[in-house]
Amino acid sequence: MKLLPFSSLLLPLVLGIVVLRAEKVDYNGYKVLRLSLGESVADIEAQIEELAAHVLNPGRAERLDVVVAPDNVDAVAALAADSTVLTEDVGAVLEEEGEMTTYAVPSETWFTAYHSYTDHIQFLRDLQGGFTSNSEIITAGSSVQGRALTGIHIWGSGGKGSKPAVLFHGTVHAREWISTMTVEYMAYQLLTKYSSDATVRALVDSYDFYIMPVVNPDGFVYSQTNDRLWRKNRQTVSSSSCVGRDINRNWPYKWEVPGGASTNPCSETYKGVAAGDAPENQGLVAQVNQLRDARGIRLYIDFHSYGQYILWPYGYDCNLRAENDAEMRSLASQAASAISGVSGTRYTIGPACSTLYATTGDSTDYTDVVGNVTYSYTYELRDQGNYGFTLPANQIQPTVRETWAGVVSMLQNA
Ligand SMILES: [Zn+2]
Repeated sequence: MKLLPFSSLLLPLVLGIVVLRAEKVDYNGYKVLRLSLGESVADIEAQIEELAAHVLNPGRAERLDVVVAPDNVDAVAALAADSTVLTEDVGAVLEEEGEMTTYAVPSETWFTAYHSYTDHIQFLRDLQGGFTSNSEIITAGSSVQGRALTGIHIWGSGGKGSKPAVLFHGTVHAREWISTMTVEYMAYQLLTKYSSDATVRALVDSYDFYIMPVVNPDGFVYSQTNDRLWRKNRQTVSSSSCVGRDINRNWPYKWEVPGGASTNPCSETYKGVAAGDAPENQGLVAQVNQLRDARGIRLYIDFHSYGQYILWPYGYDCNLRAENDAEMRSLASQAASAISGVSGTRYTIGPACSTLYATTGDSTDYTDVVGNVTYSYTYELRDQGNYGFTLPANQIQPTVRETWAGVVSMLQNA
């Protein structure tokens, strides 16, 4: 008799633990399919979105990369005019991505593994701690779950806040982990090379750098704890049980234009209920506006993956060109050459909408027009879909190094 109440108390606890552990998505056996769609694309795309676990390149309707559970592979393939298997087993690829290593003080070895969010914040603090006379930790508002959007401000011989701004954002899409590492590498290089490298010193003395490696912290944490392929923030909406806004479809410029984002809360590109209604977006908008009103912003780069593109405005209109379109093309072209000069990695360049796909409420349209930024770019980093978002750890260093060469080239020509 005494055992019964004891076990009836214990059982829910045991079950509770089991349920918690089961929350993380197990991608073993899942495949990545590259689909070519035929006629009546919108209808087919909606059916595919229902069946797929994730659409990896939402918006690119004529060629979709999707993650599909084993049981749905045949059904999804049947909807497409043509399909090829990009990844046989997503679970196996995730193992190649490597273990997250425990934290070590900033050194080049940081860029040989992926890291937890907590360790990323500690990395920034330790890096800043080594260069207290020309850097400080900054924040730009906070996330839905109350995490500060944290970055680092770096300045040169003219003193803090004396030069035009260069602004880098990373990890607006949670699953794009290579962008976190790349943006951190920019800060690492600028600070650690300042005293020894004349090129770096000239750049740091010419600009105030505002560098934000993770602007979607809630989504990033969720991509580590629950679903490696999560994209959006973690904001709820009363009309749906689906979670998350696409922060890069939420910027308050041309947000209302149809066709470049989704009004369905379950979609990977859900734009939100109103322009700028994601708290993360509000923090970033305030940051851009503040830098615009201070010394102006010379260069803005929003780092994403994957596809190997350098894109500039506009996303919302495929026919419109920025006033300085030719200069933006020239800078992008030189950056692409610098990247391929390091590693042979080839980038495609062009205005965003006509080169990749239509996007509304995106960062670079806002920074170009409202932020009055001279040069606004989106980088889509490695690769072209073989690994996609889950780029193996042994490609981190090659990626950050080649991208650094591209960014230096842009800064020298800006
Ligand atoms: Zn992205």
